[in-house]
Amino acid sequence: MSRPASSEGFGGGTGSLVGSLGLIALGTAVLLGAIWFGVTSGAGQLTPYLPRHWDDQVGEWAIKSMVDEDNPCRDSAMETWLKKVGPKLVEQVQGEAFEYRWHVIDDDTPNAFALPGGWVGVHRGLFRVAERPEEVAGVIAHEIIHSEQRHGMQRMVGSLGVQVLMGLAFGGSDLSMLAGTGMDLLMLSHSRDQETEADVLGRVLMVEAGIDPEGMASIFETFALEAGKGGKMPTLLSSHPDSKGRAALARQGERPYRPIELPPLPSSNCGAAEADEEGSRDEQ
Ligand SMILES: [Zn+2]
Repeated sequence: MSRPASSEGFGGGTGSLVGSLGLIALGTAVLLGAIWFGVTSGAGQLTPYLPRHWDDQVGEWAIKSMVDEDNPCRDSAMETWLKKVGPKLVEQVQGEAFEYRWHVIDDDTPNAFALPGGWVGVHRGLFRVAERPEEVAGVIAHEIIHSEQRHGMQRMVGSLGVQVLMGLAFGGSDLSMLAGTGMDLLMLSHSRDQETEADVLGRVLMVEAGIDPEGMASIFETFALEAGKGGKMPTLLSSHPDSKGRAALARQGERPYRPIELPPLPSSNCGAAEADEEGSRDEQ
């Protein structure tokens, strides 16, 4: 089913397309040089030269194919929670961060993902297994780093190369050429190095935000337990299954002297069943 680009739901990204054209023109000269550089030196190194609004366009395109307009988790207490806690971490990003959009996915497996440009999806299953708000915050912090370090874009550029760059640059918003292959690339596991970077820098975001990074350590242990029960292994673990090592790493380093108190975890139900859970408070 085709769906018109409506103003509802997906964070108002569509309005950026016209403005993007100027930026695309501006970026073209840089791009041509960068393409030459990329052809001669490896496409992964090309990513820093790409205009950052391309990430946003790619991420918006991808989230639309993943989150239905009638997603029962839309406007859930979980989404409200993410919109309160997520910005506390994004604020700690050095330099200009992407504009973050938070979606709760109606999926009971404990998982989360970040698409390019600040589109983050969190499965309701993550809220089900988390025991403390700091644990969900730890996963979000990790995902923010994937977006900010442009890990998904690196993979797309590295795999699809110059052809995609040319399409993005000169075809404006037409991302249809990316369907299938591009989506597969975005959903692939990150490399071990990228996972480690997301853990380490994500932990820094937590500490800077005053959030106890112990949450990141304990959620890794929970993921390992879930995987041990025979459940589907979360993607967060699949490329870097050394969960004990990851937990140990997250326990190293400084911790906030006086951690802030996060809003309590909401119910992991979507729809009517969660109505009773409303009313969590930010401060006390
Ligand atoms: Zn990751």
